[in-house]
Amino acid sequence: METGNIRNFCIIAHIDHGKSTLSDRFLEYTSTVEKRKMKDQLLDTMDLERERGITIKLTPVRMDYELAGLNYILNLIDTPGHVDFNYEVSRSLAAVEGAVLLVDASQGVQAQTLGNLYLALEQNLAIIPVINKIDLPNAQVDRVREEIVSLLGCKPEEILLVSGKTGQGVSDLLRVIVERIPPPRVADASLRALIFDSKYDDYRGVVADVRVMSGEIRVGDKIRFMAARTTGEVTEVGYFKPQMVRAEKLVPGEIGYVVTGLKDVRVCRVGDTITHPTTAESVTSLPGYAEAKPMVFAGIFPKEGSEFTKLREAVEKLRLNDAALFFEPEQSSALGFGLRCGFLGLLHLEIIKERLRREFGFELVVTTPSVAYRVTEHRSAPRIIKSAPELPDPTKLEKVEEPWVRADIVSPASCIGNIMPLLQEKRGIYQTTDYLASANAQGEGRVILRYEMPLAAVLTDFYDKLKSASSGYASLSYEFLEYRAADVVRLDILVAEEPVEALATLVIRDEAYYVGRKIVETLKENIPKHMFEVKIQAAIGGKIVAAERVPAMRKDVLAKMSGGDVTRKMKLLQKQKKGKKAMMAKGSVDIPTDAYLAVLKR
Ligand code: GDP
Ligand code: MG
Repeated sequence: METGNIRNFCIIAHIDHGKSTLSDRFLEYTSTVEKRKMKDQLLDTMDLERERGITIKLTPVRMDYELAGLNYILNLIDTPGHVDFNYEVSRSLAAVEGAVLLVDASQGVQAQTLGNLYLALEQNLAIIPVINKIDLPNAQVDRVREEIVSLLGCKPEEILLVSGKTGQGVSDLLRVIVERIPPPRVADASLRALIFDSKYDDYRGVVADVRVMSGEIRVGDKIRFMAARTTGEVTEVGYFKPQMVRAEKLVPGEIGYVVTGLKDVRVCRVGDTITHPTTAESVTSLPGYAEAKPMVFAGIFPKEGSEFTKLREAVEKLRLNDAALFFEPEQSSALGFGLRCGFLGLLHLEIIKERLRREFGFELVVTTPSVAYRVTEHRSAPRIIKSAPELPDPTKLEKVEEPWVRADIVSPASCIGNIMPLLQEKRGIYQTTDYLASANAQGEGRVILRYEMPLAAVLTDFYDKLKSASSGYASLSYEFLEYRAADVVRLDILVAEEPVEALATLVIRDEAYYVGRKIVETLKENIPKHMFEVKIQAAIGGKIVAAERVPAMRKDVLAKMSGGDVTRKMKLLQKQKKGKKAMMAKGSVDIPTDAYLAVLKR
């Protein structure tokens, strides 16, 4: 096959705008999958993806297509549609020459449409704008067309209209893909292949999904992973139809898989360049490589303490296919043995949690996630801390930084008045407002609000609040911006004057009072009464910022007395008071597991 007859592309869209459904139609039209074998959303392979209708893992597919008597190969890469996986999306986009920008005719441009579009423009991809779901009775084709024109600056007639459901417009779209997306360009003859995904296969070992930029890769080749500085040997290459089909070699412009001879996905990283050892010195690696770094940390504990070893094994197994997943053992006086895990974001955390539940049957306790704070001690390099106990003593601390994101919010203009105060409350810094399209008959224009805000603020119920501030209409997309200085302090929780290590958290100083208040109130509700009064306090470096007390159980010591002797009554009450004091001094307060959970999962 001539390089000139290859077209590599992906579909970018906001969630639910119909990417998977359209991919199915492509598979049908090109007879890649026989009609009787078609099931909906064929490329979403994990159960979890099918159930939630989201794409987590990329499944590339190679299709044969004939146009005007010429045979073409169309390689489609399905990209995950969530910010947590932006880096992986960017690497898939680097593997192709064009993108179909899919917009739901009833929803219009949404935040993730923008997020993905920016990533595609960064890679200089040819963009084919498409309005999908035109079969819907509430399709607003004209309005959505106007939005796309204002976004891309394209001509209205360049926008295609399709329905992934009925198949209307799909054959036109395939033709336009061949016409508008340029064929791969090949620079020279040395092998350079971009890894855009990698997985562990029980039979084959580590399999890399690659785009060959130049050179050829064959079975038996010795290969070099440039960033990982590792070598392997190719035992198999092939294509995705979408199941794996062996081939003799992969040539420039092609997308396929390479069985690498490696045992660990962590040395076969997304974004790395594969070359031959003979050319490793002379070629430069492909741009854009970065190591996936956890942005969010949480503790994962088995409900049954005895299941710790099994949990550890399960997480190790998941990591075989997930180089971005971090973990280390953690011991908590409250929750026992567990794992401190690092994730790319909340969806990533959610996916791991669900897989542990479903695929391994665990009952888990997952603590409130916190962001990756970066600390710098005097005369040392910055490092990421994963939990409160790792925060260095204030006297040694030079600075603490937290991750900030660039956030785009797409919303009806009428909701701006509700959304802006919410962002202010979340420490957001306003940048700009852009109008997507002029107002319609009901006066409903839509806007893009651009903000910079701390990732920590996004993690705490921001999304829910945004939805309620906009009656469900606003959508959010964000990308990591940079680490910025943060006034972070360790908030200690004391119960009966004893610090409870498991409840210590890192908080922004300005929010310490509010967070402390919430925690002591939660504890008050969950700690049973004792014979004595139990003090519950939140403190920063010894200074109390919030306090509550659980009153003593009132045991009526006078109950058995009838009638008058006042001095004897006083004596009994005095005695009771002394007893309480003695117990309080011991600080022997029983904090039930539920109380810990109420706080750790707040
Ligand atoms: P994805 O999240 O972008 O992969 O979206 P899906 O392909 O999973 O589609 C989301 C929902 O929209 C599903 O319920 C689909 O059945 C529905 N859908 C997708 N394409 C169309 C279409 O062209 N017309 C209509 N009416 N529904 C569609
Ligand atoms: Mg999908």
